[in-house]
Amino acid sequence: MKAHDGMYIGGQWRPARGPDTIAVVNPADEQVIAHVPAGTADDVDDAVRAARGALPGWAATPPAERAARIAALRDVLVARADEIAETVTAELGSPLQLSQTVHAGVPVLVAGSYAELAASYSFEEKAGNSTVLLEPVGVVGAITPWNYPLHQVVAKVAPALAAGCTVVLKPAEDTPLTAQLFAEAVDEAGLPAGVFNLVTGLGPVAGQALAAHEDVDLVSFTGSTAIGRQIGATAGGAVKRVALELGGKSANVILPSADLAKAVKVGIANVMSNSGQTCSAWTRMLVHKDQYDEAVALARAAVAKYVPGERIGPLVSAKQQQRVRGYIERGVAEGARLVAGGPEAPRETGYYVSPTVFADVTPEMTIAQEEIFGPVVSLLKYEDEDDALRIANGTVYGLAGAVWAADEAEAAAFARRMDTGQVDINGGRFNPLAPFGGYKQSGVGRELGAHGLSEYLQTKSLQF
Ligand code: ADP
Repeated sequence: MKAHDGMYIGGQWRPARGPDTIAVVNPADEQVIAHVPAGTADDVDDAVRAARGALPGWAATPPAERAARIAALRDVLVARADEIAETVTAELGSPLQLSQTVHAGVPVLVAGSYAELAASYSFEEKAGNSTVLLEPVGVVGAITPWNYPLHQVVAKVAPALAAGCTVVLKPAEDTPLTAQLFAEAVDEAGLPAGVFNLVTGLGPVAGQALAAHEDVDLVSFTGSTAIGRQIGATAGGAVKRVALELGGKSANVILPSADLAKAVKVGIANVMSNSGQTCSAWTRMLVHKDQYDEAVALARAAVAKYVPGERIGPLVSAKQQQRVRGYIERGVAEGARLVAGGPEAPRETGYYVSPTVFADVTPEMTIAQEEIFGPVVSLLKYEDEDDALRIANGTVYGLAGAVWAADEAEAAAFARRMDTGQVDINGGRFNPLAPFGGYKQSGVGRELGAHGLSEYLQTKSLQF
């Protein structure tokens, strides 16, 4: 795999300030495929300075021109889709087809949506005798995780650019090659120097330096709740804006009137996709007591199709593999019934975890409360609708969810009572314009669509 040995700062690839590097590992075969520089606080400082320098010019660029640059960036992502997909597969381990359709495909939709929004959004409003100006927040520090290496980057960078902000990105240490490709795409799209900057590096070093940098105006973070809490506290201390996309433990509620076979099949597919490494995955399947045994049998049959190394890839790292296997052991120890899978690794090489289904899971069990981030589904039994709602809302998280019923209105009525940021009704399709973000400890702020754009804007009112 091709890798840059420098940082993309101020419109060029510059040598890193320190000598340290990070080894990038292919999780499917455990081979080191590249090394990238491990940035230091000095690299972050250089990048923030470049972003600050570029801010006045970019903020003053008419929205239609910003839109044209974002459209050009989208076009480069389209032209380089194969390379992007291969790179994601190499460093994340996802099957190539998933890399093509989702990892390379979704960022094109999101970048396209912001090219349109930048052109059509009202950056000026009237309110009585006031004119309200919506101005860019300033320099954005973006910190992203590895699970959707390009989507997570584009979901922050595209709206920030649309708003007129400049950006310093610190991508996840496990998937820096996709981020380097993105920097190449930015360059090719002709964005002015310093508008986007990339510093690869470790979370506790480069990430922390970026989150704490006094000249960063907004920190946008996606990752674990533990680190999000720290970043939120640091930002709070500095009275700095922050957006946090954190963990999830979403409920897939199958009401008795639903098409049970379809709901179970789609529910299993939702969790197995990307090897369960999706914050919004519906990891708790809630089934009425009278349909429970049938649902368990359907889930067992559905999960059998996900053969490790074929339809389902490995987890990103040995650390994640260990973590998820630990949760499966914990589920067994707490009395849940293994219906499929288990803690043993299904292949000798690669960080694979067996697609796992647990039955007889009760709401207070660890596997029903904590985010697992692997191919593990828990089936919970409910008595009636109120019981289902209590279970669905009974975690500290509230990122996503699903409801199935014969009638859309019935499902939507249930969804209105859920404490969560997104709900798919009878398997509703992904919408790049739908705001995505958490209730409760799943986060602060929203990404995607117009709501995602407004995160990067601040208001100034002029009274006449
Ligand atoms: P995950 O469990 O998904 O790896 P993390 O929260 O550890 O989630 O990582 C998400 C992103 O946050 C990564 O880019 C990582 O490098 C970064 N990160 C980790 N620790 C810190 C930290 N202390 N400060 C800032 N960023 C961090």
